[in-house]
Amino acid sequence: MSRRALLLAGLPLATQAQAAYAGPIFDAHLHYNDDAQAPHPPADVLARMARAGVRGALVNSRPNDGTLRLVAEAGPQWVPFIRLYRNRADYTGWFADDSIRRMVLELLAKGNEGSPAGPFRGLGEFHLYDSANADGPTAVALMKLARERGLKVLAHVDGVAVHKLLGHAPGTSLIWAHTGISGEPVEQVRELFAKHPGLRGELSYRPGLTHDGRITPEWRALFAAHAGRFLVGSDTWVTPRWQHYESLFADYRGWLGQLPDEVAQRIAWGNAAGLFGLKPA
Ligand SMILES: [Zn+2]
Repeated sequence: MSRRALLLAGLPLATQAQAAYAGPIFDAHLHYNDDAQAPHPPADVLARMARAGVRGALVNSRPNDGTLRLVAEAGPQWVPFIRLYRNRADYTGWFADDSIRRMVLELLAKGNEGSPAGPFRGLGEFHLYDSANADGPTAVALMKLARERGLKVLAHVDGVAVHKLLGHAPGTSLIWAHTGISGEPVEQVRELFAKHPGLRGELSYRPGLTHDGRITPEWRALFAAHAGRFLVGSDTWVTPRWQHYESLFADYRGWLGQLPDEVAQRIAWGNAAGLFGLKPA
């Protein structure tokens, strides 16, 4: 369609001129919690992912058996992480609770003994609502364990806590859920990326990224400077979020299509493939 024809059709030029990203996507922030499993058994979840063009995922669940159930059915591009919570109460005290560390050790041993889902590859998503708790004894011990075992970490924390956690175990790969918890300034993201080469940002719920469906100039510049540091995810933290799974990724595809192809491919799939040693999708 010509520019003139688009104008005549009343279609916005900017959205028509760029096609949505059409390549594979890795969902770097997926929960498969106990309450989601009856309405959305693995076959339903996998069908939604197939329709969204999601070819692999970082999977965690509360409790952890949901992860094993989904990953065993899904295949090797679905990467199991250990959720630190057995129940809702664990959200607020895990960082100082040694029974959580022991649970992690047991799950790691079990995975390595031939679970159908394969060994766990990371820890998280975990939350710290007060950055001081990044110095809690279990938080420190688990960061050191992650470094020692080559586990990745998915953390829902603020910028201060990112710095503290990586201070306990420099060089560990940490995926920063939502790239902040309250829309941390882009300048702070840049500073943390510069200080911590193992830090990556996952983009669900991230404020400021787009405006009217267009990538904002500050995020366009950040993606250009750090194309290798970002991942996208669904964050299916409550069951109703599964109903919106395909539209969430349609939104991602919309703004990824506004980036150079190579940058979009890295953020959608390539960065996760490098991090987890995935096969080409
Ligand atoms: Zn989450």
